[in-house]
Amino acid sequence: MSKKILVLCMAALMAVMAMVAGCGNDNKKAAEGEKVLKVGTNADFAPFEFQGADPSAYEGFDMDLIRAIGEEMGYKVEINNVAFDGLIPSLEAGNIDVIISGMTINEERKQKVLFSDPYYKSGLSIMVAKSDDSIKGFQDLKGKKIAVQIGTTSATEAKKLGSAEVKELNSSADTFIELNAKGVDAVINDRPVNDRYIVESKNDNVKVLPELLTSEDYGMAINKKNADLQTKINEALKKLKDNGKYDQIYAKWFGDKK
Ligand code: GLN
Repeated sequence: MSKKILVLCMAALMAVMAMVAGCGNDNKKAAEGEKVLKVGTNADFAPFEFQGADPSAYEGFDMDLIRAIGEEMGYKVEINNVAFDGLIPSLEAGNIDVIISGMTINEERKQKVLFSDPYYKSGLSIMVAKSDDSIKGFQDLKGKKIAVQIGTTSATEAKKLGSAEVKELNSSADTFIELNAKGVDAVINDRPVNDRYIVESKNDNVKVLPELLTSEDYGMAINKKNADLQTKINEALKKLKDNGKYDQIYAKWFGDKK
């Protein structure tokens, strides 16, 4: 092989190596560029978060909202299904970046987490057997048995009502089962969750009472050390409210009623 050909070969080889290295860099950049938002939710709270026909495709108002927020921020959204009372510990441990789980903003939780701006107005309502005329509102729960979901505002409030017993169960679905089995006289849950159960289950033996015990705002929770993420989420939420996307998602799950 002549010296010239050898030099040409070397040059070609170096060019190929440079291309490969270039490619490698690009790949690395893409991987680095793909920021992942680790979201924690308790997917047993329709219509906010639940597992439908395909259990891996989490559905609900919160799920659509956080996906839209992730898209707005340029993050890939990864959903992690966690027990409700395990969500804040999971956030504190750094296993997730943000909680969206119909979580009410309150002072007790503010000691542990940062909240986003409010994104949904909720409140607590009561479900009882249709045949039960003894319970017309919260004051009638005195001396009665109540089922609630553990770790929730329903659990906190139920304990203040002078009831005979408060059964703290793992999910709102479990509270409905308990009521149907006549293990309790009433359940307290977030109003939209009780309303949704009536429509979806077609259970004709129960009713939701119109009185609301509280007015609550849902917020996304972020680790106290991550004020930067709180700002980004608030900015994205504001954008979605301004550009109509929030309203679209709202209408999909709740129709026009606000
Ligand atoms: N909003 C209630 C709370 O924050 C219930 C939330 C839930 O069960 N996912 O406690």
